[in-house]
Amino acid sequence: MTSQVPDRYGPQPRRITRQVDIDSVRVGGGAPVVVQSMTNTDTADVVGTARQIGELWRAGSELVRVTVNTPAAAAAVPKIVERLAMMGIKVPIIGDFHYNGHQLLAKEPACAEALAKYRINPGNVGFGKKKDIQFAQLIEFALRYGKPVRIGANWGSLDEALATALMDENAQRAEPWDAARVMREALVRSALDSALRAVELGLPAERIILSAKVSGVQELIAVYRDLASRSDFALHLGLTEAGIGSKGIVASSAALAVLLQEGIGDTIRISLTPEPGSPRTQEVVVAQELLQTLGLRAFTPMITACPGCGRTTSEFFQHLAKVVQDHVREKMPEWKISRPGAETMTVAVMGCVVNGPGESRHANIGISLPGTGEAPSAPVFEDGQKTVTLRGEGIAEEFVALVDAYVDRHYRGGAPI
Ligand code: SF4
Repeated sequence: MTSQVPDRYGPQPRRITRQVDIDSVRVGGGAPVVVQSMTNTDTADVVGTARQIGELWRAGSELVRVTVNTPAAAAAVPKIVERLAMMGIKVPIIGDFHYNGHQLLAKEPACAEALAKYRINPGNVGFGKKKDIQFAQLIEFALRYGKPVRIGANWGSLDEALATALMDENAQRAEPWDAARVMREALVRSALDSALRAVELGLPAERIILSAKVSGVQELIAVYRDLASRSDFALHLGLTEAGIGSKGIVASSAALAVLLQEGIGDTIRISLTPEPGSPRTQEVVVAQELLQTLGLRAFTPMITACPGCGRTTSEFFQHLAKVVQDHVREKMPEWKISRPGAETMTVAVMGCVVNGPGESRHANIGISLPGTGEAPSAPVFEDGQKTVTLRGEGIAEEFVALVDAYVDRHYRGGAPI
């Protein structure tokens, strides 16, 4: 009997949106999904903000957003951009504006010029009669300085007037929608109506990116499916206020993976609350790993490691997996230039003979460590063939050296040799 399961494998074709160029970074139009991040320093602190942007960039962030909330922050932006250039860091900086963006851009032309893109929130660009005027002023700055704009609606700062109007409209329906559906519609309409208004004001659709962020996974999926079906603007994905630690990572990954698998999304940010003491760069690593595990992009060699079980009597294999992972991450900026293609490599670090040799054979290079009762030796496999057996105290160092040697031999010209 043949299977009734549809034979579909891999992500659906990317939804082709309008391409937006943010300096040299292409977003949409079928370009690879772009990773972005946001600083959490006081933007007025030029040195601290430039340092954190540098860390995010080195971790792989292709766009970095900074809040521009005060005159001091706006005045700091050109200095930050200048400092980054002196540090040899070339990453587009996006200004995040709320409430007073029109005033800050008017007072600090150098800020308006230095930013690569403006992010504005239609829910708090202005209130009452001032809303349309201040929105038009922000678009006027984007036109004057030739900048793209992200129109980013957010569940937490929804346009109240629009939400009320849609509630009233809903009350007239023969079969009213539930309140959650009305609020989702308000969020989508807030983004779409604002984008159409920007186009009316003269901003080309190729300079507009849309987002409509919520903090619930199912709501986010519903909102973006809707947004994607109703326009061809480039889309920025992110689960807002995702949370701290594993909760934030899981919730963001669950929501974004579904949308990316459906071909929706041109740029992503993982909005993690950093755990005390953990680096801001974690959000970049999670974004990259999400895209790489989905098979959408490759950033760094992927380490396949077993979870360990009662067959492993020491923590050595966990230690080895960590050493190898840290090593390839550290080497990747250099390999990116001298050994392009190394980012597609797979490395296996396995705990015992049950799945160790098999999984190691599937990887480009893998090691099967001895489990309980096994001889104290660790066979290494390269491209499916056993090449050497490691023993003794120096297994970690020797295996890392073998990984380096594999990269040197196989990725000299950008593709496996
Ligand atoms: S490979 Fe061995 S040590 Fe690792 S989880 Fe499987 S049985 Fe346990």
